[in-house]
Amino acid sequence: MRNTTKSESIFQKSIDLMPGGVSSPVRAFKSVDVPPIVMEKGKGSHIFDVDGNEYIDYVLSWGPLILGHANPTVVKSIQEAAALGTSFGTLTEMETTLAELVIERVPSIEMVRFVNSGTEATMSALRLARGYTKRDKIIKLEGSYHGHDDSLLVKVGSGVATLGLPDSPGVPKNTTSNTYVAPYNDLNAIKELFAAYPGEFAAVIMEPVAGNMGVIPPVDGFLEGLREITLQGGALLIFDEVMSGFRVGYHSAQGHYGVTPDITCLGKVIGGGVPVGAYGGRKEIMEHMAPAGQIYQAGTLSGNPIAMASGIATLSQLKKADYAHFESLSNQLKEGIEALSEKYSIDITVNQAGSMIGMFFTKGPVTNYQQSKASDTVFFSNYYREMADRGVFLPPSQFEGLFLSTEHTKMDIEKTLAAMDESFAVLTQ
Ligand code: PMP
Repeated sequence: MRNTTKSESIFQKSIDLMPGGVSSPVRAFKSVDVPPIVMEKGKGSHIFDVDGNEYIDYVLSWGPLILGHANPTVVKSIQEAAALGTSFGTLTEMETTLAELVIERVPSIEMVRFVNSGTEATMSALRLARGYTKRDKIIKLEGSYHGHDDSLLVKVGSGVATLGLPDSPGVPKNTTSNTYVAPYNDLNAIKELFAAYPGEFAAVIMEPVAGNMGVIPPVDGFLEGLREITLQGGALLIFDEVMSGFRVGYHSAQGHYGVTPDITCLGKVIGGGVPVGAYGGRKEIMEHMAPAGQIYQAGTLSGNPIAMASGIATLSQLKKADYAHFESLSNQLKEGIEALSEKYSIDITVNQAGSMIGMFFTKGPVTNYQQSKASDTVFFSNYYREMADRGVFLPPSQFEGLFLSTEHTKMDIEKTLAAMDESFAVLTQ
């Protein structure tokens, strides 16, 4: 058993000071059978808690740390930027550098606006889609999470799924009355909505690889079908690549699958662990945003120099070869898990896309939220505790994906599989 004394005492103090003791719900570890872990530092693929326990990290701050913790170039770039001043509230040259890096690599983006979080990116992308099309209705997919914007807080996965909250109190009904929901990977459901409300949808917003109900890739033809339906219906297709951006491929999920949306939302990786978000698309659409156009959206700290420095250092170090590394490690993990599933007769489904991995305790296949929800969450919780005790830090929810970084090694995967072997042995005794 790990020593967790210090983590527990800090958490005890924090629950008097912050709701649930945390700044974001899933960090309270409520859905798993372990006391909250309080982290102190990270290096490469490893993270260390305040009690001195070391873990192989598959959370990576929920996705941003694609180069692992404390990448020396990222740290140096942040230090150099901070020394020049932490914020100016004017244009800086670094914004144009990061904009160029994003535009070069993400096929749909000709012009980009930086914001401070993924939530801001999706919220602003919807405003743009609505302003551009002069329509109000939108479609989102069941089990997808697009941040905590009111109009998108309907049938979400992730933290809300984990906590079993239906939708959130405090979201007025009329805010979500224009939000329509269809199952993931179900083109017919989307066609039916378009047929029922012709000419009324501004956009379909979706994760091209779903990452908030575990990891669920699109089935063959799903993205292509969405592209066609939205084009025919005069609606915009918004890819929320806050999680999949630069994780599923060098050119993000849209490059990997060869389907180009109208608007793309980014976050996480493009800030390399510093708060950032972005949305972008064709010039002709983006120029509707103020001050080029009439649709308003702004931000005191948007394009912040520290975030830009971190993002530039992160994207410029990512190479095409890294995606082959991710592929090879996730195959190693998948094969190992499948062998253990057989050895212990435990139903497990592994889904994978680039550096995102979903592991579900259910027979599968898992192609939508309902199938994901069939997973054995009680078993997951026990498994979670065993893995933490063996030095593997996993996302504390069955409905969150695992992430890899360029710093993860074959040895990390071997150790993880060995921890899994021991954990399953204990849990199936
Ligand atoms: N979209 C997706 C697909 C996400 O996974 C997330 C966060 N997990 C968000 C949007 C919201 O991003 P943020 O937490 O930075 O607001």
